[in-house]
Amino acid sequence: MNPETAYRNLIIETEGVLRGHPDMAAFAPFPADVRPQDLQPTYRNVCDMMCRDTGLVSHRYPDLVHAVLAAAPHMLWRGTYDDSAPFMERWGCFTVLGEGGPFVASRLRVFVVYMPPGLYYPSHRHPAEEIYLVIAGNGRFYRAGLPDQHLGEGDTAFHASEQVHAIETQQSPMLSVVAWRSHLTTPPVLVPEADGLR
Ligand code: FE
Repeated sequence: MNPETAYRNLIIETEGVLRGHPDMAAFAPFPADVRPQDLQPTYRNVCDMMCRDTGLVSHRYPDLVHAVLAAAPHMLWRGTYDDSAPFMERWGCFTVLGEGGPFVASRLRVFVVYMPPGLYYPSHRHPAEEIYLVIAGNGRFYRAGLPDQHLGEGDTAFHASEQVHAIETQQSPMLSVVAWRSHLTTPPVLVPEADGLR
């Protein structure tokens, strides 16, 4: 599949899922000003890891998962955090909508986050308000000030601005669509593990 077709399928499927899920629709309306932009694909090993992961079976969102996997080789895989952080070898993220993605809009940013089984994505924070929607697999979400939650397909987790959060997979991988609705260009930072978060 050529990149343009893969990008188009990805944004169509993403839009459908964001519009169709009540929590995602309540978080932010799907933007009316989505436009394509040039993208220089950037490969990371985690791309192959994701594309070979036989655990990424989705009952609710098979078309979106298929679109994510088809687009994966053509995406800019983000080095969001310092590569010396050990989890970065197996943590995967690319932008669908926003800086570094094949599309951009003024008031919403959308990422895909892949975590293989047995990965701890350590405590971090960012000024952006954020919502995760799990589209395949499952994982445990840790949020400062709230009990942790085990979430699977169709479940969402909201992270307030600067709320410290961490995510962990166990036997299953997890694939999520993640939206930001504010402070779209301020990157997240890792923070020291908070007592009791995990
Ligand atoms: Fe986050």
